[in-house]
Amino acid sequence: MDFETLRASAKQEIEHIKNLAELEAWRVKYVGRKAELTLFLRSLAHMPLGERRAFGPKANALRKEFEQLHQKKLSSIGNQSQENYALDMTQPGTKYDIGHLHPVTQVKNELNDAFKFLGFEIYEGPEISSEGYDFDNMNFPDDHPARESMDTYWIKPESVGKSAGAKKGFEKLCLRPHLTGVSVRYMQTHKPPFRFVYPGRVFRNEATDAGHECTFYQYEALIVDKDISLAGGKILVSTILERVFGAQVTTRMRPGFFPFVEPGFEIDMQCLNCSGAGCSICGDGWVEMMPGGLPHPNVLAVGGIDPKQWQGFYINIGLDRITMMKYGIDDIRLLHSGDMRFLRQF
Ligand SMILES: [Zn+2]
Repeated sequence: MDFETLRASAKQEIEHIKNLAELEAWRVKYVGRKAELTLFLRSLAHMPLGERRAFGPKANALRKEFEQLHQKKLSSIGNQSQENYALDMTQPGTKYDIGHLHPVTQVKNELNDAFKFLGFEIYEGPEISSEGYDFDNMNFPDDHPARESMDTYWIKPESVGKSAGAKKGFEKLCLRPHLTGVSVRYMQTHKPPFRFVYPGRVFRNEATDAGHECTFYQYEALIVDKDISLAGGKILVSTILERVFGAQVTTRMRPGFFPFVEPGFEIDMQCLNCSGAGCSICGDGWVEMMPGGLPHPNVLAVGGIDPKQWQGFYINIGLDRITMMKYGIDDIRLLHSGDMRFLRQF
């Protein structure tokens, strides 16, 4: 093998190299796995001892020399390319898809902040509830239509097993059709006075359209104290709505009947989507925002609270509806569609 010729041609070629691609080709040619020198070094093992001693050190020295040449050229090209490709501030950046919170979750968090500011605790109950918690405790008469399976998703008894000695209704499980049952769970484990909110998902066996879904989110609040006034409740409602919408909102109150309140009312808010003119969200310009009222004495009693000493104030906010109002969404089904084209807007 002619070391001198090899050295001369390698040196001559590397002189003219101007970029990394050429340098890589040079590296493959002179020190790569199939380079003449590499193959020679590998064949040394099979040579007679004399030849090995004669050529081994020379070949190894040449390989080292090539590697140094390569290293030197590599750093000189690197320096040049840094000069040539200095940071270009006009290049568009790389956009990373990092995801974000669902609009309903964002509004829920805003409500949480608004209520926490007013001294409320955040509480959560189970999505699988029972006839006992969601109807019996809620003062629903035995023949109330909401107990029928047309509204509530009941869970087949054989799929949940039976616990011995369970009270009437408490072993008949369902996907909760409303949140109010959660308030009794809280009352049974806390001593008044207290104020808390309990956001969550509810389930109704209903036909869906732009304004109705078979699963949606509610956000309830309950205050229990010695001296509760309806006027105080109204101020609470408008404080919360103005916090969420960042503007004054127009509301109206109507009497409403729900078994678990006495008296009960409905708060409507003028539709922000159409400013009261009427649209597919509201129909007539008003959106049912919140039913509410003072807890029925029977409900306080099952919560372990003496209705002669204590009073309460419920409000139930439709979380999906309030989100639709806030962002001008005209179909509730979009919220649960998982459609990224929709969700990316928030
Ligand atoms: Zn409207």
